Amino acid sequence: MAQILDTQLMHPRDQIVLIISRIYKRGLTTTSGGNISVIDDDGNIWITPSAIDKGSLRPSDIMCITREGKIIGRHKPSSEYPFHRAIYAARPDLKAIVHAHPPALVAFSIVHQIPDTNVIPQAKHICGPVGFVPYALPGSEELGEKIANIIGQGYNSVILENHGTVVGGKDLSDAFERFETLEFCARTIIKGKTIGEPRYLSDHQIEEFEAQIPRLQPELENSEYPSDEREKREQIVKIVQRACEQGLMISSYGTVSTRWRGNDFLITPTDKLRWDIQRNDIVQIRDGKREPGKLPSRSVWLHQEIYRRNPHINSIILTQSPNLMAFGVTGKK
Ligand SMILES: [Zn+2]
Repeated sequence: MAQILDTQLMHPRDQIVLIISRIYKRGLTTTSGGNISVIDDDGNIWITPSAIDKGSLRPSDIMCITREGKIIGRHKPSSEYPFHRAIYAARPDLKAIVHAHPPALVAFSIVHQIPDTNVIPQAKHICGPVGFVPYALPGSEELGEKIANIIGQGYNSVILENHGTVVGGKDLSDAFERFETLEFCARTIIKGKTIGEPRYLSDHQIEEFEAQIPRLQPELENSEYPSDEREKREQIVKIVQRACEQGLMISSYGTVSTRWRGNDFLITPTDKLRWDIQRNDIVQIRDGKREPGKLPSRSVWLHQEIYRRNPHINSIILTQSPNLMAFGVTGKK
């Protein structure tokens, strides 16, 4: 069973190892490149080590730099530690930082451009405005100052000229979601350009998306969990996990449902990072009512209608797979 990120109670070094393994498996950084840090409640910075293979990191490899500047651990901290420290000093609201060299964002960095996150509805809100940091030697104090200066202006994501990206978050889950979504935008724009000209949503269309208030089904009075219902939960969790690992779904987007009995079905929840969906997050929809206390995906009405009108359809997947999105954003057929 895949590991679930718990930013509240998981030790920072376990969080870092889990996220670096997702980034590495998804091909979003090189073997030695990229670094992640988390600052804890005592002001200690936990960070990936320098020059150690990112494909086989263990929690005991993670370094700690205490508030007083003492270095604890068996390796050297990441050579890019200076910019992590400078960012935390400039932005006390940021508690985790992801730096990597993902292919599509590096492509933007070498042509000195920032990806337009208006390419899909949810990305602008997740990524926020994206800054651009002029080149400085990787690992230098100068680079640290330049990055902290731009992030200090309120940007949560920046492109580093001819280098890569740095993304901050209120915790590691937030930073990873932003990182993955920004790379997704960059990749979609590049792929779109290979078959046509990407078209962007207007700010008004994005505001409309953010402002929509989901219409909720009434709650069921009681829920039952027969074995065939539990089996379907397990199937949904597994398919979402596989889709994330294959890059066919990202933290911020993707819905899966499966028909259960008659027109009743099970569906993934809203506002939950797709990588971390568990059995008890899945929402049961029975007689047009939802499982008490749970919020199904915003697309639940669409799923309900599809099942009602199409008795032969037993499962639905909504996602933004990278190659099909090239068609989605250009309107090419
Ligand atoms: Zn780097």
